[in-house]
Amino acid sequence: GADSGPALEISHLTKRFGALTALDDVTLTVRQGEIRGIVGPNGSGKTTLFNVISGLYRPSAGQVSGVGRDISRARPYQLSLAGMARTFQNLRLFSQMTVRENILVVLDRSRTSTVWQYAVWPVGVLSNEHRLQAEADRVLKEYGLTAFADAHPQSLPYGIQRRIEIARAMAGRPSLLLLDEPAAGLNGEEVGQLSSIVRSIRDQGVTVVLIEHNMGLVMSLCERITVLAAGSVIAEGSPAEVAATPEVIEAYLGD
Ligand code: ADP
Repeated sequence: GADSGPALEISHLTKRFGALTALDDVTLTVRQGEIRGIVGPNGSGKTTLFNVISGLYRPSAGQVSGVGRDISRARPYQLSLAGMARTFQNLRLFSQMTVRENILVVLDRSRTSTVWQYAVWPVGVLSNEHRLQAEADRVLKEYGLTAFADAHPQSLPYGIQRRIEIARAMAGRPSLLLLDEPAAGLNGEEVGQLSSIVRSIRDQGVTVVLIEHNMGLVMSLCERITVLAAGSVIAEGSPAEVAATPEVIEAYLGD
C-alpha cells in the first residue's frame, strides 16, 4: 500500500527524444516524508524526470513506482487521483477564475457527491456545496490567501501566484508533491516563506521532491539531494556530502 515502502522508486530510467538521451539509466529512491532536492545544470534532465514521474512522458526504458504502485505507464489524471500533485516552472493557474475557484476546482469530489447525498436533494447538494466552500476556506487560510480569495491570480504579485499554485496542488490532499523551481522569481523574504510552507507540508506527512536552482534553499531545506548532469545521477546524499563531491563542483563550474 501507499503507507509502506518508498514514496518514489525510480529504477534504471532512460528517456530518449530521438537521438538525444535526456535521462540515462537513472536510479533513485525517495523515502516517505522526505524533502528531496533535484539539482543540476540546465539541460541535465530535471524537468524531463518530473515529466516522466507525473505521467506526461513515457519512459524509454526502466521503471517508476510511486503512490503505492508501478506508475511507469500511468496517465497524469490517474496519478493525480492516486495522490500525486505537481507544480510547473511556469505557473499554470486558471486566469479566468478567482483564487477561491482555482482551489475549488481541485477539491476532492470523490468523498462528497455520493448517491446518498443526492438522494435527499436539495439537502445533499447544499451540504456538499457548504462542505466544499468550507474546505476552500481552510486551504486559503492555511496558505495565507484569504485576503486574495476573490481576486484573479494575474492581478496579484508573482510571489502570491506561486503560493496559490502550491495551495491548489495541496488542496487535492496528495501524498507526493513535485515542485518545479518553486523559488524562481521570488524575493528573499518570499523564499523564507516558501521554506516554511514546504516544511509544514512535509510535517503533514507529504513527501516533497523539488527541482531548484536556489542552492541556499536546497541546502537548508532538503534532507537529501540528487545531482543530475547530462541525464545521469552524478551525486546523491546529504547537503554536506553533495557539496563536497568533486564531480558536483565540476558540473556546476562547467555550466
Ligand atoms: P533541465 O530541466 O535539467 O533543464 P530538461 O529535462 O528540460 O533539463 O532537458 C533535458 C534535455 O532533454 C535537453 O537537452 C532538452 O533539450 C531535451 N528535451 C526535453 N524535453 C524534450 C522534448 N519534449 N523533446 C525533445 N527534447 C527534449
